[in-house]
Amino acid sequence: MWTDSTTVLQWLGSLDKQPIFVANRVSEILESTTVDQWFHVPTADNPADAGTRGMSAENLRTSSWLTGPSFLLTSHFPFQPSTSIRDSLQTKPSLHDSQKDVTEPQMAFAVNIMQPEKIFDFDRYSSFNKLVRITAYLLRILPKHASYRTPDRNICDPDELRVAEAKLQFLMQLESFPVEQKLLFDGKQINKKSRIAPFSPFIGPNALIRSTGRLKRLVEADYDLKHPIILDSRHPAVKLFLLKAHLENHHEGVEFLRAFIQRCFAIIRLRPALRSIKHNCILCRKRSADTVKPMIYQSSVCPLVIHLSPTQG
Ligand SMILES: [Zn+2]
Repeated sequence: MWTDSTTVLQWLGSLDKQPIFVANRVSEILESTTVDQWFHVPTADNPADAGTRGMSAENLRTSSWLTGPSFLLTSHFPFQPSTSIRDSLQTKPSLHDSQKDVTEPQMAFAVNIMQPEKIFDFDRYSSFNKLVRITAYLLRILPKHASYRTPDRNICDPDELRVAEAKLQFLMQLESFPVEQKLLFDGKQINKKSRIAPFSPFIGPNALIRSTGRLKRLVEADYDLKHPIILDSRHPAVKLFLLKAHLENHHEGVEFLRAFIQRCFAIIRLRPALRSIKHNCILCRKRSADTVKPMIYQSSVCPLVIHLSPTQG
């Protein structure tokens, strides 16, 4: 997807807290896309402009509205803003906080362009269970996990799947919160404006970021309940995990599933993600569809009613 608005690109890549209107719009966009799917198109090449302006038929014939931008016919896509635009993005302050230290927006954009290299292309998978099993097979390559190897490649030990799932969760956190994860591993404080700051995160077992939680004083509660694992619902693997939970819980309602998941996970924007899954689930839509009610006839015009009337006998 392309936009000629460098301001919008700045909003999409920024970790700063935005004004509520902007934050809502950005959130809607990032529910169905990721930041790296957005590219910059120079205004002069943007065919969408032609559709919003009056234009003579003669000019329309030669405009990019019919042919698309010329760069699509070459291999030189303007995947990112040109160097000069990118430089201006790095120094452009946020809308609501122009007097703020200019190093913060710089850091936000740097985080965007320095994403760690992906091990998995999560978008290619449609099943969380399959993803876990593939991870388990990959881990068998390591000498540390050689004890899990079986002659027929079957996974017999449930513990192997648990280890693989924990590694996946680590990857999800690495891709969702790279800066916060590094700071926490270095024993430093994370930015108070970080999305996970309200959870008072810390590094727990399996090197996973967990929430301090308000239930920490409960003696009998499970460790996962007291210190849930923090994930971001926008990550594609987390979406697969939520879809799995939706199916395994027999298409239950959003609030039930939310309570179920929150026993072990603190997932950012969980409710909207669950709503989206339920909305897109064909079975759930069929169940909630309105039934068609039969038409009600007046007795004077319905021949069947007239025939069965006792006065006719
Ligand atoms: Zn469903």
